[in-house]
Parts: sequence; C-alpha cells; structure tokens
Amino acid sequence: MKYELETIPVWDAMREGTECLFCRLEEQSRSRYIDFYLGSSVMNPETRQRVNASGFCPAHYGDLVARRKAHGLGLMTHTYLLERQREMVPLMEGLRKKCRAAGEKKLLPLLPKEIRAGQEELARYVAEKERSCLICDDVSRSMNRYYYTLAYLWRQDEDFRIALTGSKGLCLHHMAGLFPLAEEALKPAELVRFLGDLMELQEKNLERLEGELHWFTQKFDSQNNDKPWGNSQNAHKRTVQKLTGRPFELD
Ligand SMILES: [Zn+2]
Ligand SMILES: [Zn+2]
Repeated sequence: MKYELETIPVWDAMREGTECLFCRLEEQSRSRYIDFYLGSSVMNPETRQRVNASGFCPAHYGDLVARRKAHGLGLMTHTYLLERQREMVPLMEGLRKKCRAAGEKKLLPLLPKEIRAGQEELARYVAEKERSCLICDDVSRSMNRYYYTLAYLWRQDEDFRIALTGSKGLCLHHMAGLFPLAEEALKPAELVRFLGDLMELQEKNLERLEGELHWFTQKFDSQNNDKPWGNSQNAHKRTVQKLTGRPFELD
C-alpha cells in the first residue's frame, strides 16, 4: 500500500521533545476529526450517512460532548438515534413478545432458548455499535501515514536519524503500532537496522525515565526538600504516558 508522506508534522512533533512524538500526532489528529464531525461538514449527506452507520466509540463521544457544540451534536445524535431505533426496536419487540408469552406459563424451570438467543442478538448489536467509530478509523489511518513517514525519514534523512537517536523515544503503545508500518516502508535489511536502533533508543529511554521517576519519588522525602528536581518533574505523568500512549497536561 502506498501512503502519503507527512514529513512536516512528523518533524514538528519530533522537535517538541516529548516522551513520544506519535502521542502528540495522535492528539492533534483526534482533535482535528472531532472538529470535523462537529463542523458544517456533517451536514453533507455522505458524511451524515457514514455517521449514521458507524457512530462513535464511548471515548470519542466523550470528546465530542466536551467540545460544547450542543446544537451540532444534538442534530447529529438525533439522526443517529433514529437509525438505531429503526434497527433495534424490531429486535426489542421480538424479545418483549417472547418474554410476555413465556411469562404466561406458571412454571418456568429454565430460561427458554429463544429468550436467551434474543438477548444475545441484542447484546451483539450493542457491542458492535460500541466498537465501530469513525474517529477511531480516521485517526488510525492518519497514524499509519505518520508511522510510515517516520520509517521513511529514518531511511532517507540523516538529520532525522540523528534527531530520533537523541530523542526521548516512543511510548510502548506507539512503538508496537509502528512495527507493521515500518515493515511496509523498509526492505528487510533496512528493517533489521531500524529495529536495532529503535530497541537501543527505547531501552535507553526507559532507563532514563526510571531514574527520573525514582528521584521523583525520593523528592517527597523531607530530607530532599532543598535538592533540585532535575529532570524529574512530572515523571509520574510521563511514565504513565510512556506505558499507555496517553499524554497528560504537564505543569
Ligand atoms: Zn505514544
Ligand atoms: Zn473512537
């Protein structure tokens, strides 16, 4: 597959010097798509249709609500709700009728099979809708372009290779996400060199962070009150980011 290169955003995120440049890029991408789905584009019939079919996962619905664009979100969720009702009410009605019919029998030692099946069908539908999310899909496509670009820049651009080697590395989540795209971007001989470099970078930075976190915990000891923080400030938040791919506002 051919990916569009995104060298400028990847370079910019690298220059920010955070615990993971992909965390930054993912945040920016998510924010852009949240604005997109709350903007005028959602009035476009094609986008509207995609929203009605897929909707958003619980986390991204949360982000949409947090943007406080009540009218746009109200309009969008209204048509989405109508669509869910159209698909779900027949399933609910079917289950309700089976329950009512079974309820007329006085003795019911076991739950009737058709009722269990009705529940399961409804639960499957709900689970599928919770999983499907346009923003997850859009962000994942952007991330693939960024991963691909990083591997490309590592191969093509000496300055980038130097900057990456001196960087704080990647979080574990995005390190794993990078693997398949690096494999697409690089030939096997290049990939083994790249992975060797990446492992060295990651090992070194986990060790650095562990040291920073250790001093962070020591700073709570009153004996260390007057000693400098060094690079340990926010080490707890940066460690959570390193472990999970979820960045936090740093104070
Ligand atoms: Zn990350
Ligand atoms: Zn999502």
